[in-house]
Amino acid sequence: MVSDFIVQTKAAIARLTDPKLVGQTIELTNCDREPIHTPEKIQPHGIMLVLKDLTNRDLTDKDLTDRDSIDDTGADLDALDSDAPLDWEIIQVSQNSHEHIGRSPEAMFGQPLSSLLSEAQRQNIQSCLAQDFEAVNPLRLNITVEDQPKWFTGIVHRSNDVILLELEPTATTEGISFFNFHALVKQPMGRVRQTTNLEELCQIAVQEVQKITGYDRVMVYRFDEDDSGSVIAEVAQPGLESYLGLQYPATDIPKQAKYLYLLNLLRLIPDINYQPVPLVSAATDSASADTTVDMSMASLRSVSNLHVEYLRNMGVRATLAISLVRNNTLWGLLVCHHNSPRYLSYEMRTVCEFLGQVIALELNAKAENEDADYKLRLKAIQAYFLRTLPNSERLKQGLTSDVQKLLAVTGATGAAFCEKEEISLFGKTPELPEVQQMMAWISTQFEQNSVYHTASLSAVYAPANDFKDSASGLLALAISKVQNLYVLWFRAEVLQTVNWAGNPEKFTEVDDRGELQLSPRKSFERWQQTVEATSKPWKQWEIEAALELRSAVIGLVLQKADELAELNSELTRSNVELDSFAYIASHDLKEPLRGIHNYSSFLIEDYGTELGEDGVDKLHTLMRLTGRMEDLVNSLLHYSRLGRAALQLEPVPLTDIVNGVIEVVNISKPGDPATTNNSDAYNINFEVAKLLPVVMCDRTQVTELYTNLITNAIKYNDKDHKQIEIGHYAMSEAIAQGIIPEETASSADNPAATAEQVIDGVASNSTVFYVRDNGIGIREKHIDSVFRIFKRLHAQKRFGGGTGAGLTITKKIVERHKGRIWISSEYGAGSTFYFTLEANHDHA
Ligand code: ADP
Repeated sequence: MVSDFIVQTKAAIARLTDPKLVGQTIELTNCDREPIHTPEKIQPHGIMLVLKDLTNRDLTDKDLTDRDSIDDTGADLDALDSDAPLDWEIIQVSQNSHEHIGRSPEAMFGQPLSSLLSEAQRQNIQSCLAQDFEAVNPLRLNITVEDQPKWFTGIVHRSNDVILLELEPTATTEGISFFNFHALVKQPMGRVRQTTNLEELCQIAVQEVQKITGYDRVMVYRFDEDDSGSVIAEVAQPGLESYLGLQYPATDIPKQAKYLYLLNLLRLIPDINYQPVPLVSAATDSASADTTVDMSMASLRSVSNLHVEYLRNMGVRATLAISLVRNNTLWGLLVCHHNSPRYLSYEMRTVCEFLGQVIALELNAKAENEDADYKLRLKAIQAYFLRTLPNSERLKQGLTSDVQKLLAVTGATGAAFCEKEEISLFGKTPELPEVQQMMAWISTQFEQNSVYHTASLSAVYAPANDFKDSASGLLALAISKVQNLYVLWFRAEVLQTVNWAGNPEKFTEVDDRGELQLSPRKSFERWQQTVEATSKPWKQWEIEAALELRSAVIGLVLQKADELAELNSELTRSNVELDSFAYIASHDLKEPLRGIHNYSSFLIEDYGTELGEDGVDKLHTLMRLTGRMEDLVNSLLHYSRLGRAALQLEPVPLTDIVNGVIEVVNISKPGDPATTNNSDAYNINFEVAKLLPVVMCDRTQVTELYTNLITNAIKYNDKDHKQIEIGHYAMSEAIAQGIIPEETASSADNPAATAEQVIDGVASNSTVFYVRDNGIGIREKHIDSVFRIFKRLHAQKRFGGGTGAGLTITKKIVERHKGRIWISSEYGAGSTFYFTLEANHDHA
């Protein structure tokens, strides 16, 4: 409700100007403290009468509230005072009364209003007070001055427990008609409503208001979030210096002035050189009687000296200010200036006020559109990133390939992409070393959040003072703190981005009286000081846009991880299926194989003579082949079993295993095991490291592993003196010796960096085991293929090779122990098989 709103606003004004409260709850400047709603003076273009209800027995606040409520329900107010004569007592009068109505204040004190106005006119005043103030004001009143009727525009309203009647002389006997009013506002309204954006709306508004009012200069002045303001539209007579783009500090329009602009949507000063006219009252018995009148709603109210001084310095003689109110707050002002005195009738002012309201309504829609448009633009950019990021190989490439978009997503002037130690800069930014240095500080600012922002970086990070021109504002986004992945957006200092509108050096600071001048340019300079080293503030949705970008990146990473996990489980499943397939197949194959073998042997036994030597030979070949096939099937069966059986992990001293294997190898070699030391007989020299570690592993499988490697080392060796070395290295030693293969170390930037480094799945504290021989070696091109199942490099006869499954099984055992296996070999000189057994570390 309007009345509620006014009551609240008045209360707020009272708080602001209460000296007891000043400095406690709200910080105010000198201007803010000036009680401008009780000047006790008016402007001289009219007179003011302060009236007291004759029948009114000192209305209390409660009475007034009751009255308001009766007003609101439409009840007949007169019913309250039905018996009383309709009249008021004149208790205060502006000192210029004689000039306008030929009567001095003294002659009027204590007089009833009926001494001035007729019954009918008083009746009008009464209905005015009873009804909505805006709807019925102004009144056309005439007062007989020196026997002649003189016409006035009367504006009446209640102020606390008194009634203020303002009278402005007018030449016309009639007020403005509805038709005139409509004709005046129709065209400007149409033009204003046709505009498509805020900028255009403000420009048309100033043009239309100038057309109607004829002022030299009309401007739209917009308040920023920090209460400072700027001129965003202007129309001015040729020859006048432009103020477009100028910025003003918040102090230029003090807080209570802003409140009054909210209460009273229009403020007219026909001539700033006016002599303020005091309001005088009759001497009372009680010296303490409070005669202060609240003129918040009075249109004649005298204005602040500071304001007049300000206008004088601008070379302005007359002004009109129309409030632009959006969502109950003062969004801006339509300000008209004239360099000579200029009066505007109450009716014309009403037209302007009405236009101001139409503009404010349009403004509301346009300002919302402006925000909505901006939000939409940000959304479009986010959509761009969502679309392009998944196709980018690297995050950096995805985010920075279109720099303009990267900057626009938060409305920044510069940006940095930081990945670990690597920082890339885009747009207007501080120097690289400055950003590098700042990163250490930024990374500590996030607390629980993923985003940190400031519009005044140097206030929180002093070194930023050196680069305030490029980075007074910072919006930092932590994509991943763990991975040191950040995006920084910078905003230039506001001073670097505003429209300077001419050279601020031009205006004089001190006038000829030696006093400091206030003027828009002076204000601009003060404003510059207040905004030094600050950027435009980051809007909520710009911060949200950064956060959404982060979600998109994280979502993407998660999606990739999901895909990977799915791929992994797919692989595991197919591995398991393969294992069970191999198991079933090999099982089923053995049966017919055995049948073929048996029937071949029956054939030889029963029909050998009939078949002849050739036939028997062929059957023997058939039996050999089935035997061979059975070996293959057995290997396959064994291999598939390896994948299926659970590991029996236990601490196993590898020395025991190796010695056991050597023993078996020696025994199983052809010759006479009973009489010969086989190693010597075959001239094999085993060199086993003194103490192989105890590792957590599956004893049977690791025994098989060593058996395979050691028998191969013996088999594939054509030297007279076979040399077989079995040992181990600590990882650091292995790295130092360069025996970690490139592909194993590929994830580390430097393979020989530190022993602590984790190298592609190989724990830094693990052990590298090896079996080395001086055998035939393996050609480089074959190294990868030896681990493939049934892959042999030689005919079986040559080195007495097996099925070609030995190394495949060996690899599987290593992998089941979460280790890796690799070969280093020199053709003709020997091979070394290296492996790790990481299961050891999980269970250590
Ligand atoms: P097999 O069971 O037939 O020995 P493996 O899978 O153990 O098969 O080995 C595959 C092939 O790798 C062998 O045919 C051989 O050519 C080669 N190979 C294995 N170990 C060695 C080694 N220590 N030195 C040279 N070649 C080897």
